[in-house]
Amino acid sequence: MRAYDIIKKKRDGGCLNKEEFQFLIKGYLCEEIPDYQVSAFLMASFLRGLNDEEIILLTDVMLRTGQILDLTEMDDPRIDKHSTGGVGDKISIILAPLVAAAGLSVPMICGRGLGYTGGTLDKLESIPGFRTEMRIADFRNILWETGVAMMGQTEDIAPADKKLYALRDVTATVESIPFIASSIMSKKLAEGLNGLVLDVKVGSGSFMKTMEDAEALAATLTNTGNSFGVRTVAVITDMDEPLGRTVGNSLEIKECINALKGRADGDLLEVTLTLGAWMLYLADWVEKAVDNPRTVVPRITAIDEGALSEKRVELEELIGSGKALESFMEFVERQGGNSEIVANPGLLPGAAHIKPVQAGSGGYIQRVDAGKVGTASMLLGAGRQRLEDRIDHGAGIILNRKSGATVQEGDTIAVLHYNDEREPNLAEAFQLVKEAFEVGAEPPEPKRMIKKVVL
Ligand code: URA
Repeated sequence: MRAYDIIKKKRDGGCLNKEEFQFLIKGYLCEEIPDYQVSAFLMASFLRGLNDEEIILLTDVMLRTGQILDLTEMDDPRIDKHSTGGVGDKISIILAPLVAAAGLSVPMICGRGLGYTGGTLDKLESIPGFRTEMRIADFRNILWETGVAMMGQTEDIAPADKKLYALRDVTATVESIPFIASSIMSKKLAEGLNGLVLDVKVGSGSFMKTMEDAEALAATLTNTGNSFGVRTVAVITDMDEPLGRTVGNSLEIKECINALKGRADGDLLEVTLTLGAWMLYLADWVEKAVDNPRTVVPRITAIDEGALSEKRVELEELIGSGKALESFMEFVERQGGNSEIVANPGLLPGAAHIKPVQAGSGGYIQRVDAGKVGTASMLLGAGRQRLEDRIDHGAGIILNRKSGATVQEGDTIAVLHYNDEREPNLAEAFQLVKEAFEVGAEPPEPKRMIKKVVL
């Protein structure tokens, strides 16, 4: 077999088989096939596409280049949630301890932020002492004891994805549904899950800008997960406006703590409860099937809305009773973090400077553009332009107003938090945040956060 023939086959619109994917991916990983040939394969596949079967084969090959966690000894259903990435998306940090308090196990391998999208690992690392790098054995112990464990992708988890992602990043082949799906699923399937809830973001602050693309990605992701026997549901949610009221690592941790204390509302609460209800729903589904002698859990084909609503109420009660917050504190401590941040958020990294942004005109806020706010936050130091950049955990943006609110000319609509005063970044960030707020004379249509559920 030759890499040349595989590239040519894809270039001419052919379909690749398992042996061809194995040859190419394994050969790349052990440096027998050079970057330039894999780059050509990436571009041919980007332009020609991969069909569902090829996506499953590629996912399987990438998954098997690393370790797959065997957590079958755990009694609790193992259910994870993954977001395709957005601005101010702090939901995993609220949701994982919340559903763990309901009895689920959440083994979560999470990523870092890039460009305007934030990453869960960066947010967690703003907690003093918090460890996100650990041995698989420690990850397993933490999960066993607290019901939730989070860490970054190690060399042992889908190493082919890590190497391929870096190459996609420099060959303009990131924005491909087959590659995004196989990349996400090769990591998620390594977690040894029974069920997975995917939050597929759509809008200016996400990879998928249109509903059509988001639906296509959601269908590809659920099809891939389900074909591996992991019951997978995708919820398409709005990412046209940042989630919640903060963007930036330690600011978002403060907002998560407030949410776990029962002080979240609006979009953040809505998306958290919807995804959480689905995680509990999947757990029930899996448990019912396990009671059954048949080992293969059937796919979900219809939704029991009543059962989903009950799950939402259960989650609200866990927040109201303080159990969700206790679960968060236990998880933080077990991963080496200082849980005193809950009582004293001043222990989190802060910013030496703040700069208010004022509304240029009065009226109703129509929209707060997530892409612009995300880019501004990155310019303030809260995100990275390149994978190797360092980030400032104390930097970020607080949004005082969101869409639907009224505003008068000169009102403070947002506040920039920063440590690095260097220009032109600061001036650009200020301008972007100002432009992100679109003001009009009439109230906007109420925003619908949950766009669609894809089974
Ligand atoms: N997240 C991933 O893990 N991979 C992609 O390709 C895109 C987003």
